[in-house]
Amino acid sequence: MIFARLLIEPGVIRHAEVRAETAWLLNGAPWLGGVPTGETRPLADCQLQVPVEPSKILGVGRNYRAHALELGNEVPKEPLWFYKPPSSLLAPGGSLVLPSVSARVDFEAEIGVIIGKRVRNVDVAHALDAVFGYTLVCDVTARDLQKQDGQWARAKGFDGFCPTGPVSVTGLNPLDLDLSLKLNGVLKQQGNTSDMVFDVATLVACASEFATLEPGDLIASGTPAGVGPLASGDQVVLFAPAIGELAFVVA
Ligand code: ZN
Repeated sequence: MIFARLLIEPGVIRHAEVRAETAWLLNGAPWLGGVPTGETRPLADCQLQVPVEPSKILGVGRNYRAHALELGNEVPKEPLWFYKPPSSLLAPGGSLVLPSVSARVDFEAEIGVIIGKRVRNVDVAHALDAVFGYTLVCDVTARDLQKQDGQWARAKGFDGFCPTGPVSVTGLNPLDLDLSLKLNGVLKQQGNTSDMVFDVATLVACASEFATLEPGDLIASGTPAGVGPLASGDQVVLFAPAIGELAFVVA
C-alpha cells in the first residue's frame, strides 16, 4: 500500500492512502492506526509533504562497502549511528539552501525505513515486525564540516538536509530495493539494498538497543557509492522503482 501526507487546502495537512490518482484521506497517521474516512481528493490537487513525522531521524554511516571505500574509510564493524534533527526535513519538490559555512555539500541517496511500532531491544528476528514501510531520503552532508567537527550534528543537521518522500510504501522486501540518484539528469548513484553491510532488520535491532523507536521514526539506511557535491541550481532526483521519485532543487 502507498501512503502520503498531503496539503489538501491552505493550512490543512492530512494523511492519505493513495490508490491510482486518488487520495483516500485518513483520520490519522497510518502507523498509528489511521483509517480511510471516505473523503477523497484527486491526487493532482494536493501537494506532497514529507510522508513521515519522526520524533527522531537516525542515520547510519558507511553502510555500503563501495561508499565507505570511495571516501577512504574502513567498513565499520558495527553500525555507525548519527542523528538528523526533524528540522532538517525537506518536502518533495522543495528547495535546499546551501549553508554559507560549508564549501562542500554532498548528496547521498538512501532508503528510509519508517518505524511502525514502539520498540526497545527488539531482536533481529522480530525487527521487521516493527517496520511500517519505506521511503526515499537524501542524507545531505556538509563533507568539510563532517571532517572538521568530528561530531556530525552540524554536518548532517542543517535545515533542509533531509529531503524525504515522495510517499511511504508498505509490504516491500528490504533485502532487494533498487535506488538511484540523478544530478541534472546524469546518473550518479545506483545501488541495491542487498549490498548493505548491515541489513534493515539488523539496523532496527541495533538502533533499538540504545533508543526507543517510536511509530513514524525514520532510519536513513546508508548510501551506495557515487556521492558528490551539490551546487546552486542543481536538480536532484532520487528514484526507487518500488517507491517512486523524490526531487528537489538547490537554491
Ligand atoms: Zn548517509
